[in-house]
Amino acid sequence: MIVAIDGPAASGKSTTAKMVAKKLEMTYLDTGAMYRAVTLALLRSNTDLDDYDSVCQVVDKLELDIYDKGSKTIVKLDGEDVSEAIRSMPVTENVSAVSAMKYVRQTMVEIQRNIGKKTNCVVEGRDIGTVVFPDAEFKIFMVADVNMRAERRFKDLHEMGESRSFQDVLADLRRRDEKDSTRAYSPLQKADEAIEIDTSMLSIDQQVRKIINLVKKNN
Ligand code: C5P
Repeated sequence: MIVAIDGPAASGKSTTAKMVAKKLEMTYLDTGAMYRAVTLALLRSNTDLDDYDSVCQVVDKLELDIYDKGSKTIVKLDGEDVSEAIRSMPVTENVSAVSAMKYVRQTMVEIQRNIGKKTNCVVEGRDIGTVVFPDAEFKIFMVADVNMRAERRFKDLHEMGESRSFQDVLADLRRRDEKDSTRAYSPLQKADEAIEIDTSMLSIDQQVRKIINLVKKNN
């Protein structure tokens, strides 16, 4: 069984998807973390992001590992734990450009489908219900007011010790939303049959409950 959860950055997907997976005893797959890991590899190798062939070469050599450990998602790049490094600002600023590249997407989607074949998964991302798992049993599209999302992200970043202005965080979200929604391959889009949840006024518990109820009612 696949529960697909899509939506823009900071819409509450990650925390909610993780809790839903735990409650339903399913694997949680954070596909954004995969695109972040590819971005980190490209930045570390000083690859010119405008040089498509060089990007493809790096992607071909990547050894990417992603798995749950307790309540954490561990991401390994060539054996190194990069779970924290993939959340850094340089990665966040470049990930939308990297994830817009066709070859990067094809490669990641293949890995995601292989994981989904082996186990019941709650998969979160941008194109899960539309492209990666179009036959997913449950499709959720989470949205929230951009100012609310920026406030959440701003708070998270401060808790992680990153000092960025609210305006900066807001501008980054808007830029990523725009890039993710307008790219040619697999743009951020609500699948026709997806159920939209506006999380602007909902607590995490309420979001989780809504999804769990939906799954239980229809399963
Ligand atoms: O979910 P998160 O904000 O960590 O995702 C980082 C970036 O990865 C997104 O802004 C988007 O560019 C990309 N992404 C994507 N497709 C997915 C998941 C994430 O393009 N399925």
